[in-house]
Amino acid sequence: MPITTTEKSVRDRNESAWLLPNDGTRTNHRLRRDMRRFDDADEIDLVIVGCGAGGSVLAQRLARNGWRVAALDAGPFWDPDADWVSDEAGSHHLYWTEPRVITGGDPVPMGSNNSGRGVGGSMVHYAGYTPRFHPSDFCTDTDDGVGADWPLTYQDLKPYYQAIEQELPVAGEHWPWGDPHGYPQRPHPVGGNGEIFLRGADKLGITAKVGPVAIVNGRFGNRPHCIYRGFCLQGCKVNAKASPLITHIPDALSHGAEVRANAMVTQVVVDQRTGRALGVHYRHNGRDHFQRARMVAVAGYSIETPRLLLNSASQRFPDGLCNEFDQVGRYLMVQGAPQTAGRFDAEVRMYKAPPPEVSSEEFYETDPARDYKRGFAIQTVSPLPITWAEHVAAQGHWGRALREYMSDYVHWSTLGSLCEFLAQPENRVTLAEEKDAHGLPVAQFAYSQCDNDRALMKQARTVMEDILHAAGADEVITINRYAHLVGGARMAAGPRHGVVDRNCRSFAVPNLYITDGSVLPTQGSANPALTIMAVAARAADHLTGTA
Ligand SMILES: Cc1cc2nc3c(=O)[nH]c(=O)nc-3n(C[C@H](O)[C@H](O)[C@H](O)COP(=O)(O)OP(=O)(O)OC[C@H]3O[C@@H](n4cnc5c(N)ncnc54)[C@H](O)[C@@H]3O)c2cc1C
Ligand code: SF4
Repeated sequence: MPITTTEKSVRDRNESAWLLPNDGTRTNHRLRRDMRRFDDADEIDLVIVGCGAGGSVLAQRLARNGWRVAALDAGPFWDPDADWVSDEAGSHHLYWTEPRVITGGDPVPMGSNNSGRGVGGSMVHYAGYTPRFHPSDFCTDTDDGVGADWPLTYQDLKPYYQAIEQELPVAGEHWPWGDPHGYPQRPHPVGGNGEIFLRGADKLGITAKVGPVAIVNGRFGNRPHCIYRGFCLQGCKVNAKASPLITHIPDALSHGAEVRANAMVTQVVVDQRTGRALGVHYRHNGRDHFQRARMVAVAGYSIETPRLLLNSASQRFPDGLCNEFDQVGRYLMVQGAPQTAGRFDAEVRMYKAPPPEVSSEEFYETDPARDYKRGFAIQTVSPLPITWAEHVAAQGHWGRALREYMSDYVHWSTLGSLCEFLAQPENRVTLAEEKDAHGLPVAQFAYSQCDNDRALMKQARTVMEDILHAAGADEVITINRYAHLVGGARMAAGPRHGVVDRNCRSFAVPNLYITDGSVLPTQGSANPALTIMAVAARAADHLTGTA
């Protein structure tokens, strides 16, 4: 098949999709077997903690620039053929299931809906929606008097959005919201759930569009077309859905990066005299190691990154690394994610398509007519049966009623909202008394909603219910949920307001970077992975002097 101009430009800067095998298997075992391996005693250029959305992009970019990089991940180096199954219950091992303590007025349940473990990070089992943030997300304090202004603008990030959208690649209709833009791949055909969303929205005069999803529409390198079997949240065995495991790690390995799996980093070590990072302590195969490095980047996710910084306290940083101004762990954000299901006489069979299909950002921006600031997005979600049972049970149905809802599964359509809950300083990670298997204090996450959050979520529920009714639903049930954690080590103009600067460099330690979702000061009502990757790609350009 001829290669397009966009594909050629992607291949020239990130060959991952062409490094995957083309023989029906999903993993380039030779690349993994022959990857470069550094010695703990080598002072490499950069050691990265966490090989997810942010860590993998950084590893790929810097390895391409000739840096000696090792990316350590606490979890396994997944092989989709051997490790993943198209089965909800059988996919539990993809999540970070180590203990975490949750507190606050509205505690956030942790586990499958929050973060992953292993090379590829949470994107291995993310849904695949990849919207950009809107320009307004970068200045909510100035515009709306809530949240925070980023030390970056949308325009600063725009070229990185475009680059990552090509590398994943993203498929979708022309996007009319935020900064209007197109996508490298055409929109996918939609299934029953998407059709219902489009129909109901159309009846109410709400604009809804197909996409944007990081799912291959057509062949891309050696990655095949999506086969619409609906297991995106269980890890896509087909390699059609993008995750760093297939979009950035192969190219990183082929340019000399090492990926060290099953390596749990326990401490970032800082020279007590100079204040510079020296490397990281980690546990691998039951033994303690120390990897020396010229620079350290932490990208362990919004819970584990602040936890690691707090667990890296030393004489010079007695309250935790980078925590002189009590900023580490603060302003952790989670999106309100209510989910509404509607029953239709005709069969919907929402499982027969990727869960991410159609979305609307019509309610994303602050509406002066409303008594709350900021907004929400609406998307198809299409839970598989176990998640559907959780939805029905959360609504209060049990026993016989639960069984009836379950046997009626093929008649239901489900939409979800992402509500921009505001960043608050008391929503934060601290260290709990409880210890993990390594003897390290686990993260304690306190979370409470504010009035603005509740008002926003109420309106999102109403709009979703209206859409399903307008599409012809005879019964509608809604539950409240959370999704997507970001923040906890945010970027800011100065050290009294955040942990890193606009280039992701920590204020406290000049050779320590944070390049994951923790650095986001606001979250919009967009799914965060694309923005996290774009921020990491920009940080890489800063490090290589090309920004
Ligand atoms: C069910 C689900 C659905 C989602 N759907 C979407 C979606 O549709 N669109 C979207 O944009 N986002 C989605 N997300 C969110 C998205 O996947 C995450 O926001 C994103 O992957 C976070 O990137 P990160 O780099 O911060 O962390 P991660 O991608 O989670 O990577 C962190 C990595 O660090 C490793 N790690 C942590 N601590 C240590 C340590 N001490 N030592 C070594 N390694 C460590 C972990 O094992 C992990 O691999 C979803 C998430 C979930 C859970
Ligand atoms: S629906 Fe497509 S992207 Fe999702 S798991 Fe199946 S093949 Fe992969």
